[in-house]
Amino acid sequence: MVEKMDSLQHDVLVVGGGGAGLRAAIAVARDHPDTSVGVISKVYPMRSHTVSAEGGAAAVISPSDSLDDHAYDTISGSDWLADQDAVEILVENATDEMLQLEHWGCPWSRDPDGHVSVRPFGGMKLERTWYAADKTGFHLLHTLFQTTLKYDAIIRYDEWFVTSLIVADGRCQGVTAIDIRTGEMLSIGAKSVVLCTGGGGRVYPFTTNGSIKTGDGMSLAYRAGVPLKDMEFVQYHPTGLPGTGILITEAARSEGGVLVNNEGRRYLQDYGLGQPLDLKDPDHPRKRTMELGPRDRLSQAFVKEREAGRTFEGADGDYVELDIRHLGEREIDRKIPMVRELAVRYIGIDPVHDPIPVRTVVHYMMGGIDTDTRGATSLPGLFAAGECACVSVNGANRLGSNSLTEILVFGARAAVAAVDHASRVSLPSNQLLESSARSEQSRLEATLLRKNGAGETVSGIRSDLQEALEEGAGIFRDEATLQRTCSTITDLQERYEKLVLTDTSRTFNTELVTALELGAMLDIGEAIAHSALARTESRGSHQRTDHPDRDDAGFLKHSLAYQSEGNPTIGYKDVTITRWPPGERVYGNV
Ligand SMILES: Cc1cc2nc3c(=O)[nH]c(=O)nc-3n(C[C@H](O)[C@H](O)[C@H](O)COP(=O)(O)OP(=O)(O)OC[C@H]3O[C@@H](n4cnc5c(N)ncnc54)[C@H](O)[C@@H]3O)c2cc1C
Repeated sequence: MVEKMDSLQHDVLVVGGGGAGLRAAIAVARDHPDTSVGVISKVYPMRSHTVSAEGGAAAVISPSDSLDDHAYDTISGSDWLADQDAVEILVENATDEMLQLEHWGCPWSRDPDGHVSVRPFGGMKLERTWYAADKTGFHLLHTLFQTTLKYDAIIRYDEWFVTSLIVADGRCQGVTAIDIRTGEMLSIGAKSVVLCTGGGGRVYPFTTNGSIKTGDGMSLAYRAGVPLKDMEFVQYHPTGLPGTGILITEAARSEGGVLVNNEGRRYLQDYGLGQPLDLKDPDHPRKRTMELGPRDRLSQAFVKEREAGRTFEGADGDYVELDIRHLGEREIDRKIPMVRELAVRYIGIDPVHDPIPVRTVVHYMMGGIDTDTRGATSLPGLFAAGECACVSVNGANRLGSNSLTEILVFGARAAVAAVDHASRVSLPSNQLLESSARSEQSRLEATLLRKNGAGETVSGIRSDLQEALEEGAGIFRDEATLQRTCSTITDLQERYEKLVLTDTSRTFNTELVTALELGAMLDIGEAIAHSALARTESRGSHQRTDHPDRDDAGFLKHSLAYQSEGNPTIGYKDVTITRWPPGERVYGNV
């Protein structure tokens, strides 16, 4: 908890207490002990979404693997939209980050001979995903959190909600934030601010993402004039539980689980992802089974199966079945205990005896705040890392298990750049901090906290936004659906202006927090829909039925959405290609 000071100021202020934020804070405190670092988080850090990651984190470890193979899988998985210099940085630093975590206490699962266990993951053609059973995120975040406790230089602001960036003299000089417990609006000054605020899957109605994932940091940067990159690329995961959207990790398939349609057929063999192998044959490399294709392809195949009438009908929508029975109770309990626990607890099915119903579910945003490979944005003093940022290593489709690696590698790098910037500038004046907090408070009182209005509700606008995105900017989109979504979002933005809160109290005003989150969701929804409308090709997770082919001549480019009066302006910038020229994505028994 924060020690109250007359004026809250830090050399480096990290926004976000998830994996990226804590890794960044440790990098500052460990390597620059004289640097003051603040970590501000809208929830207690251990409640950040990183805690729910299940399957694992990718890093080369086996002698038969190589950095080039990891890079190639990532780049082809991204449908060649990843920046290859960023991918090379990711893979080169990945293994050191995993070993570092081990030294800090992360209990990686081990083989009987003592080696670190690795499993294959979707689109990764070799086993390189490190895991701690299927609770990797919990152990990873716990390890980082405990490590932060060693450093007195790290000051935490738990349950503070950042509402805006303080920008003066052309640079970011801190944030305004509400202490949720007291309702007080305060400024926290900083020489450098690092946004590690995570993703925004909650803009869709059915998602694996926790309710706090509302894209706040992306919106903070967007409003400050920093572009959002590649926002049209939204990842659907193929295996969520119907009803809740709770994730059944890819680890279930990596351990040998298979997907079958209502004819009992392993339908992925019909989608260019390879042929079924005899799973009982110990020499068969499970890694090459078609269930371990990339997520974009698997999610698209689900939609096609549904259109062909080959999915099951259920009370919570159509589904296919994930069958892990052949693994046996012992293996299931040893390798993927949480899969069993979640299935039993949330749908009353024990996967030892019955297949698990699963369906596609929004999982991750490839897009985010445009940064360079050091985490720097176009606004001096503002840095970003983790899921809120777009470096870009994920391009048009992220491979499972690369995100945990990304938050570590690029969280640490953003910290280095932030310290470097902090050494060259001075702290903001008290006057700037006081006036920023005052004007932010007045803005809220003139809008969300005003006493009269037309009575729009947070939940009403939010569910209309979610529905508009799912309808118009889902797994398959076209010009007409996207146009409709864009115009619905414009209407919703007007309705948001009329939003009135029923709770105007100060203490733990969760209605105010959700209203502020909704403002961010409208921003990123707008960026997603307009970026998708402008990209008239199909690539990775962005499938335009009216433009079904990849168009490298026209669109081997990152999109950049800038907030403007009215609709956002969409610009483009080149993709960095170093050693892997664009090619065909090939998966299967090769
Ligand atoms: C169910 C699930 C399973 C996953 N499994 C895997 C996996 O096995 N492997 C893998 O590689 N990836 C996985 N992912 C993806 C991966 O976990 C995330 O991309 C990653 O953990 C994001 O980390 P982060 O630090 O960027 O953000 P988060 O962990 O989401 O943290 C964001 C932080 O920002 C803070 N914050 C946000 N807005 C504000 C604000 N306005 N004011 C103050 N603070 C704010 C929050 O409080 C939080 O502390 C999974 C994701 C999900 C949802």
